[in-house]
Amino acid sequence: MAANACIDAAAAECVPDGLTLVRTRAEVRAWVAARRAEGKTVGLVPTMGYLHEGHLSLVDRARELADVAAMSIFVNPLQFGPTEDLDRYPRDLERDLALAAGRGVELVFAPSAREMYPEGEPRVSVVPDEEIGGRLDGGTRPGHFRGVLTVVAKLFGIFTPDVAVFGQKDWQQATLITRMAADLDLPVRVEVAPIVREADGLAMSSRNVYLSDAERVSARALSRALERVRALYLAGERDAAVLRAALREGISAPGVEPEYAEVVDPRTLGAVERVGGGTLCAVAARVGKTRLIDNALLPPV
Ligand code: AMP
Repeated sequence: MAANACIDAAAAECVPDGLTLVRTRAEVRAWVAARRAEGKTVGLVPTMGYLHEGHLSLVDRARELADVAAMSIFVNPLQFGPTEDLDRYPRDLERDLALAAGRGVELVFAPSAREMYPEGEPRVSVVPDEEIGGRLDGGTRPGHFRGVLTVVAKLFGIFTPDVAVFGQKDWQQATLITRMAADLDLPVRVEVAPIVREADGLAMSSRNVYLSDAERVSARALSRALERVRALYLAGERDAAVLRAALREGISAPGVEPEYAEVVDPRTLGAVERVGGGTLCAVAARVGKTRLIDNALLPPV
């Protein structure tokens, strides 16, 4: 794969003009110190790579909020369960560098697992409480958010960014990171940007590449279910149980195996009885072997 040639050889021709690719934490620190010496603020967009327009929209936001945008590309082993897709997660660094440079990213940090976890499994990590971290994806992916929060805390420590931008696509993740920054007094502004979708409504995801043509059609059930619930809400329905049932029915489509369909408080992620503007509707389902998630906030009325 071209990506491996780029990774293994660290070939200069893989790196577009105007972009710096670094592999070590020390190089990041030096780069950030140089930007600060120039009086510039730094915006960080953490990713696992295989970039799409959703990731790039976060870069646009970072550039609005900070003088320079940096990105990390790291498929973090700590956030994958033993039966999950760590080994087959899509990777193409060369393509990612071109896309990132095209949107004005000035630094990409693409470390090895050894660089991030030199002593292997960290002895100290960041764990959310069960109430906010154990629901939704935390319920079906045990240990996932420990992996996410730990790597994001490390990235905050390495970059000391002024701003870090995350996607609403992973609402629970963004909520937990916002809470982590607040609860641990981390000096970073955490910003959450809207979901970018394909023309037919499917939320963009690096994992969409796994879908066959038939699965790609089935996958529309998730965003359609969210649209249907929104329509019910706009027509006056306020009973969360009714909306939850509609959401679950919507993702119980041919070729789709529902995992959860929830209507919850957007901050605590706890179930609600009555819904209003800002209530979070969230779904997860398997389409073939691919796990997909999506969500929407009910609009103010
Ligand atoms: P990932 O590479 O999947 O870990 O995602 C990196 C960041 O991009 C996370 O903050 C995600 O929430 C965000 N992201 C992923 N998909 C989308 C999307 N469709 N729209 C907006 N942001 C997204």
